[in-house]
Amino acid sequence: MSVTDSLKRLLTFGTGAVLPLRHAGDPVLEKKARKIAAVTPEIRDLAARMVATMRENRGVGLAAPQVGVSLRLIILGTHDPREPVPADATPGEHLLGARMPLALVNPEIITVSDELEACSEGCLSVPEISAEVVRPWAVVVRATTLDGEPFEVACGNLLSRCLQHEIDHLDGILFIDRLKKTETRRIKEEVEALRERTRRGLAAPRGKRRAL
Ligand SMILES: [Zn+2]
Repeated sequence: MSVTDSLKRLLTFGTGAVLPLRHAGDPVLEKKARKIAAVTPEIRDLAARMVATMRENRGVGLAAPQVGVSLRLIILGTHDPREPVPADATPGEHLLGARMPLALVNPEIITVSDELEACSEGCLSVPEISAEVVRPWAVVVRATTLDGEPFEVACGNLLSRCLQHEIDHLDGILFIDRLKKTETRRIKEEVEALRERTRRGLAAPRGKRRAL
């Protein structure tokens, strides 16, 4: 074990075990996730494990279907709480930024801005592939925290993009489903190869399954 590995273990100690990630081609990423009726200890444990998984993989967001759980739970990590939130940030960045990593239960987008923004996106379920996605620059999101605190707030910038990306996961949509035709064509072969690898992995006998 390298020093980096030891440090990583220390940093994730007590926050839950890292879970294997599901990749494009896995049916769990293509279906609509169920609403969470109540925050049980199991949901809290799942959220802690998702935080550990997001950190381990250096992501800025994670949705429960990405770890094989079809429930409406997402983790946000777009902001380092040790850093100040810029003064001109949106209300959502101020409200949520200082509390990250943060779990949101049953998040939904209430309204989106007319203003659109194009930005390169990636996804832990679509490793090593990135492409430009056009999305509304800002959204109003409604959700509940793990402590049962409901809120509704306007979010812009990376937080808005992350919310849209993660909530898409809860509806069985990946960023590669939202590309312009030119971008879809550019990454078509890589995506097909990934889906095929995932399907082969899922079809392999249990003992021989590899963590894809
Ligand atoms: Zn994703």
